[in-house]
Order: sequence, then C-alpha cells, then structure tokens
Amino acid sequence: MNLRRLLEAASFAAARHATQTRKDKSGSPYINHPLKVAAMLAGPGGIADLDLLIAALLHDVVEDTETCAEEIRDRYGERVAGIVSEVTDDKTLPRARRKAIQVETAREKSPAAKELKIADKICNVNDIDEDAPAGWPLTRKLEYLDWSRQVVDGCRGVNEGLEREFDEAVEKAAMRLGDASV
Ligand code: ZN
Repeated sequence: MNLRRLLEAASFAAARHATQTRKDKSGSPYINHPLKVAAMLAGPGGIADLDLLIAALLHDVVEDTETCAEEIRDRYGERVAGIVSEVTDDKTLPRARRKAIQVETAREKSPAAKELKIADKICNVNDIDEDAPAGWPLTRKLEYLDWSRQVVDGCRGVNEGLEREFDEAVEKAAMRLGDASV
C-alpha cells in the first residue's frame, strides 16, 4: 500500500478544509470528520482498497470547498474521482431535495461508494450521539437517524461489519435520545 499517497491526500484535504469547522459545540476542525471516516473504513477488518481510503479523505472537498472534480482526477486518478463524485451532493439543490436524492440513488452506487456512504453515516450518527450539532432539537436528531438509516438500507450488501457497526451506532444513539421507535 502506498502510504505516501494516502497521507498526501490527508494533507490536501486538511488544506482545503482549513477554514471550516464541524457543527458541534466546540467547533472542531472539519478535517477530523474525513479522517474518522477513513479510519472507519480502514478497520477493524482492514480494507486494502487504497483508492477507497483516499476517496474517504477527500469525500467532502468537492461538495464543501472550492475544489473541482477535475482536480481530484488529475491528482488521484479516475477511480478516486469517481467515488468522490458518487458521494457528492449537488449543492445547487435545496437541502430536502438533496436528502431525498441520497435515499433514491443509494442502490445505484458502486460498492466502494456504498461502503463510503455507510462509514460516513456511522461517523455522523456517532457525532449526533456524542457531540451533536449545536442547536439541534431532539426531533431533528431523530429525523437524522431515520434518514441515515434509509440511505444505509440502500447501501446494504457490501460490507457486513460496517453495516453492523451502523446498526449499533443508530441503536445506541436512539437509546440515548430516549426513542425506542427508531
Ligand atoms: Zn461526510
């Protein structure tokens, strides 16, 4: 595995997200999120797909920074750019529409993009549980859990371990939020 390529991608993502913070109360650096998603994909079973780990590090740079898909393709190749674009929302659409599209298109994604989606949702559900976005009322948190489960349901069949980890994360978050119906 070419670790240099992987670490260079982490550094590139950190530079592109440098001025952004997560929505949690402490406003933690944005790069923590893609790093967590890549780490989630790397273990515990370990994924040997370097392109997928690189795509995980870069999964929000096209959606949330001034980076375009062509730049990802030039730097990291066609496959990485393809995975990133599969998980990139069209920010010109309203938020509700983007969320609906994620549910509608989950089944059509490549296996690598599905794994990345599941890992992304695990990290976001863990965040809701442990360090929720500031100002989110309970109903919004529960809606998030329900929506991410719909997206992940469309991604199932690619990675049993990750799928189990997602189910456990949702269960734990729902229990802590005091809702047995999720
Ligand atoms: Zn993400």
